[in-house]
Amino acid sequence: MEMFNKIYEHEQVVICNDPNTGLKAIIAIHNTTLGPATGGCRMYPYQTFEHALNDALRLSKGMTYKCAAADVDFGGGKTVIIGDPKKDKTPELFRALGQYIDSLNGRYYTGTDMGTTPEDFVHAMKETNCIVGIPEEYGGSGDSSVPTAEGVIYGIKATNETLDGINQIGGKTYAVQGLGKVGFKVAETLLEEGASLYVSDINSEAIQALLNRAKELGNNNVKVVSGNDIYGVEAEVFVPCALGGIINDETLNSLKVKAIVGSANNQLLEDYHGEILMKKGILYAPDYIVNAGGLIQVSDELYGPNKKRVMKKTKAIYTSLLEIYRNSESKSISTVESANQFCEQRIEARKQRNSFFSHHKRPKWELRY
Ligand code: NAD
Repeated sequence: MEMFNKIYEHEQVVICNDPNTGLKAIIAIHNTTLGPATGGCRMYPYQTFEHALNDALRLSKGMTYKCAAADVDFGGGKTVIIGDPKKDKTPELFRALGQYIDSLNGRYYTGTDMGTTPEDFVHAMKETNCIVGIPEEYGGSGDSSVPTAEGVIYGIKATNETLDGINQIGGKTYAVQGLGKVGFKVAETLLEEGASLYVSDINSEAIQALLNRAKELGNNNVKVVSGNDIYGVEAEVFVPCALGGIINDETLNSLKVKAIVGSANNQLLEDYHGEILMKKGILYAPDYIVNAGGLIQVSDELYGPNKKRVMKKTKAIYTSLLEIYRNSESKSISTVESANQFCEQRIEARKQRNSFFSHHKRPKWELRY
């Protein structure tokens, strides 16, 4: 019974054990009110089954909220493979996973996450249609960091509008942590709009690439800082695009910014750090609202790739965030709590409508295959 107490919120948990290929995985389906579940597949050398199960349960619940926020026709799910991505990957292992996913008959779609790549899922898609985020040459939509960065920019605009009544980006100073696929594109747009930047990255090539780009754009207002110094700079907005857990007891003592908007997943080390941000008067854009551009792109793949449509859908991050901020202020709750309520209301509203239609019917967009 202890196990059921832990998973009581989840609709289904599937344990996959295939001795032939060595696949040991857990598929967790949290909630399919909004549509079939989706969520990437993580591969990690979990020390125990418990650790793997906890990760699958936690991450799949997070996906339910993220899908609701992004307004995509999916619910929350997640797969974890117990194994070392450097040693244990084989085409057969991913084909076996594809067979397990196919056995769910359209209730769950997956793709890449930490430890897996789109190429791994080329093997899985030989066994099932329920794969998203596939490489472009297989009909997928390509690099998801493009809409993710676009979503961060919309998040910054909504934040500036809430702070100053005007959504302009230029004329402000931003502290960008991480100049990888997402952070570089965000920093580039900020520079194009005439902003000043503090930047940090542990990779000196990424820093140099941005300095070169700044020069090309004729905006040399870029200061490079190292390590933890990024948390204490005099900037208006902190833009975390590298690591999770960077909003914690330590960094909260250093931060001088008015707002935090970035792509990094799980920015708050603990939930209560959202409350502290509110008390300190720092406007926090919940990460899963702002970084949903990638999810919007992969879920949209099922209609056939179309970058224009993805960008149009990503724009909704702006209005959603404005609503979340307004609700947080009027109810005196943290923006995290406000975001959760925003998602729960969407799910509840759909539940009412679902009572008239069978939501387990396979969606029409599957006809693309
Ligand atoms: P990436 O690996 O391309 O870039 C991360 C960058 O951060 C790298 O340049 C790395 O050198 C740098 N970095 C690592 N540790 C650092 C540190 N301590 N200080 C400063 N810089 C550091 O990853 P990405 O795709 O750009 O994603 C960035 C973040 O956004 C991640 O947290 C990711 O989970 C999240 N995210 C990405 C997407 C997407 O579509 N790529 C979607 C949703 C969320």
